[in-house]
Amino acid sequence: MADNDGHYLKDELHKLFLSDKRVLDFLQKVALDGLWYWDLEHPEHEWMSPEFWYTLGYKPEDKKHLSGEWQSLIFPDDYPLAMENFNKHCLDPLYPYDQVVRYKHRNGSTVWIHCRGVAIRNELGVAIRMLGLHHNITKVKQLELRHKKNLKVIDELYAATKVALEEAEALFILSPDAKLQVDQDGFIVRANSEAGQIFGYSIDELTEMNVDALVPDEFRAAHANNRLVFNRAQRTSNMLAKSRVIYGLTKSKHHLQIEIRISELVTRYGPQLLATITDVTEYNQLVSSLKASQDKNEYLAIDASTDPLTGLFNRRYFTKQADKDFANSRRYKSELSLILFDIDNFKRFNDRYGHAVGDQVLQKIAHSAKAVIRNGDTLARFGGEEFVVLLPMTSIHAAEVFAERIREDIEQIVLAVAASPALNVTISAGISSRVQQDSNVQELIERADTAMYKAKNQGKNRTVVCDASANINPEPGW
Ligand code: GH3
Ligand code: MG
Ligand code: MG
Repeated sequence: MADNDGHYLKDELHKLFLSDKRVLDFLQKVALDGLWYWDLEHPEHEWMSPEFWYTLGYKPEDKKHLSGEWQSLIFPDDYPLAMENFNKHCLDPLYPYDQVVRYKHRNGSTVWIHCRGVAIRNELGVAIRMLGLHHNITKVKQLELRHKKNLKVIDELYAATKVALEEAEALFILSPDAKLQVDQDGFIVRANSEAGQIFGYSIDELTEMNVDALVPDEFRAAHANNRLVFNRAQRTSNMLAKSRVIYGLTKSKHHLQIEIRISELVTRYGPQLLATITDVTEYNQLVSSLKASQDKNEYLAIDASTDPLTGLFNRRYFTKQADKDFANSRRYKSELSLILFDIDNFKRFNDRYGHAVGDQVLQKIAHSAKAVIRNGDTLARFGGEEFVVLLPMTSIHAAEVFAERIREDIEQIVLAVAASPALNVTISAGISSRVQQDSNVQELIERADTAMYKAKNQGKNRTVVCDASANINPEPGW
């Protein structure tokens, strides 16, 4: 082979090659995994170095120097590539004979061979010999395959992680609840748009803030301290998972009531906290306004059953209550008495002292009668200047005593009216009690009314017991 780069050592080595066989022996032993030299004029002949066979697991003495030997061991899939490169190289010296092919090792394993060769040509340029080198790259190939496999696993893991991260991100971003991810120092690392909406900041603004700034001034120091305590206590803290309502502060300095739940995140930057926040300001307002309207309804219920002038129950309420008491009395065969009383000569009183003074009288009478009734009794303003008292579990005689007491108390009321002597009013009362024949409370009212008119007729300022109630034994056994 021509050599014209002119280094004296190279020239020397070249000569050494030609003169001393041991040089080639040494080279093929230590630097190569096989050397072959092929007679292209008699292509069945091919000389293969001992290393060629050692590399494939064979003893050189068991193999013949025939090209059929290696052709039977090369992978059938790789043979066409080798032959194609061979043919191209023979036609064109610039086309390299250089490829990686697989051979079957004697033990059945695969041997990866980097195979390079050069054709020796005659004076017409026709390839007549071929010199080739083998380099066993099995180890590198195995590493490469393992690496590829690892890469595939990594790719799959990466893809799965990416999906999981995207899902987590989507959950975070699209969550209907506000979410703030906070580092150990309280700085907001991540925020979703709902959090921005609640606090009136953009997400970018939030992620430059410390979470303490979202708490009103008066609670800020306590909040910062709570965070420190929480960071120290971590999992044992009772703040985890439990929700609580605290005050929040918007960008425009409005106070909010927010429900907050905290969970712990493990991140590559260390433990962080995820706060899930719901604005409950409106909800709480709704609850209090519902409560207020409930109170108002209760007030309206009182209103519907109360006489505004005297504060006593009105006739409507009395009738309802009397029906109930009457039914109970019948059911349990218990006594039930009723007192109806009417102010004497009240028309005249009004005419003389004026309606306003008359109203005061009504109020004083109500007050006085209220002071003597017991729990379970019902006192009501029955009409203009008529009052009624229903007395469950009370006999006609006890009711009479009771009515007398009311009458006397009212008689004692002294009204001081400007430019007038002290004034007094009196009442007349009729008393009735339930008897077996009664089918409703109306019958008691009518009998009490009759008795009351009897009292008026007998000269007023007195109590009269209804005859029937007095004479008829109300129920057997009583
Ligand atoms: P008697 O002794 O027979 O009951 O005589 P009386 O004047 O009380 O007669 P009557 O029952 O007919 O008159 C009722 C009067 O009560 C008429 C009305 O001026 C007065 N009165 C009714 N309701 C009110 C009220 O709310 N305020 C005042 N000031 N007076 C009332
Ligand atoms: Mg009257
Ligand atoms: Mg009257």
